Amino acid sequence: MSILLKNAQLITINNQDEVIENGCVGISDNKLDYIGSYKPGFEEAYVRVIDCKGKTVMPGFVNAHNHAAMTLFRNYADDMKLMEWLFEKIFPLEDKLTGDAVYSASMLAIAEMLRSGTTTFSDMYFFMEDVARAVGESGIRAVLARGMHGDAADPKDYRLKENLELFDKYNGAFNGRTSVMFGPHAIFTCTVPYMKMVFDKAKELGTTIQIHVAETKEEVKACLEKHGVTPVKLLYDAGLMDETVVMAHCVNLTEADIDMLAEKRVNVIHNPGSNLKLASGIAPIVKMLDKGINVGLGTDGASSNNNLDMLEELRMATYLQKVHMDDPTALPVDTVLRMATVNSARALGLGDVGSLKVGMKADLIVVNTEKPQYYPKYNIKSAIVYSGNSSDVETVIVDGKIIMEKGVILAFDEEKVLHEAQKFSELLTR
Ligand SMILES: [Zn+2]
Repeated sequence: MSILLKNAQLITINNQDEVIENGCVGISDNKLDYIGSYKPGFEEAYVRVIDCKGKTVMPGFVNAHNHAAMTLFRNYADDMKLMEWLFEKIFPLEDKLTGDAVYSASMLAIAEMLRSGTTTFSDMYFFMEDVARAVGESGIRAVLARGMHGDAADPKDYRLKENLELFDKYNGAFNGRTSVMFGPHAIFTCTVPYMKMVFDKAKELGTTIQIHVAETKEEVKACLEKHGVTPVKLLYDAGLMDETVVMAHCVNLTEADIDMLAEKRVNVIHNPGSNLKLASGIAPIVKMLDKGINVGLGTDGASSNNNLDMLEELRMATYLQKVHMDDPTALPVDTVLRMATVNSARALGLGDVGSLKVGMKADLIVVNTEKPQYYPKYNIKSAIVYSGNSSDVETVIVDGKIIMEKGVILAFDEEKVLHEAQKFSELLTR
């Protein structure tokens, strides 16, 4: 179907970070075919015309690091140390998970993400076919990876096989809404030969890899003790770094680590909410951006955040860097908006997502800015980042289809999703 959004204020996130007043967005099939000012007679060229007077249209957020099904453990165990939280609370429940529970929790995550303006997410978990099922049904876009712990010498390893099966079945599925990457979990859960095996497979298939790196001080300390080098240097020396690699967190880095990431053009995903809640530290985002590293943004799982609200993440990211750098000019609005959209998309290998440009995928959100927190109207980008609410997202379009309109999710029964998730949470904790 072709759709015209008219009378809107457009935040393009194009190369000039342009804002267009009284603008129009044309969509045909799943692509943007017009971005610009209104021209009389436009309406006849489109099947559906949506008047966006008083509204702002911008690219949907790209949540580049998530474990969607962990919504099931949201607010189940908080204010704990990472290792106690994982081993005493999370792992025992994860052992009881089923494919249906993961599907239900993923639907819950997707409902929350759509409502807060996210149109693409990346996911690293297990029962990934059930996550793919949720992506297919809900209409959202996703890049999926099977989270893998592994040892190349283990003949019983089934995780890489599952990631490969996921790739065969779902890479490019649902009109290209899903793509599949590889998900070696971390340097402390995978051996170097195993990571090499995964890296080679990803190369062979022409896809990307996502891994957690230097999230905590403990991880870095243990790596120094075991291997004599930092986690980044370990991966560098093993030849496991290039532009197809996405590293989540990268909180505890040395100057030399940052130089290696820049040299190898590795992508970094910043997760400020999770890093704050788990007291992991403050990632040196400004330094990485200054060195030309592509840095995207993610929420991490909902049990260490505890929501999947990208707008909150944007705000935390910029505030944290301002305090960290002792500089209020650090990570300005345009930069943090790019991190949450084009940079995240680029990290995930999605070159046609994250900005309003002709030819890009039609993934966008309509924000109702006719509310007190957006007045007076000086700078719409500042208003969204510093004073907006994600609950002001009214309409969500993914791949040219209207998934949510005027606050109502059209693609699935949201109430049922909430009740099912509650049911599974009670089953798991019983
Ligand atoms: Zn994570």
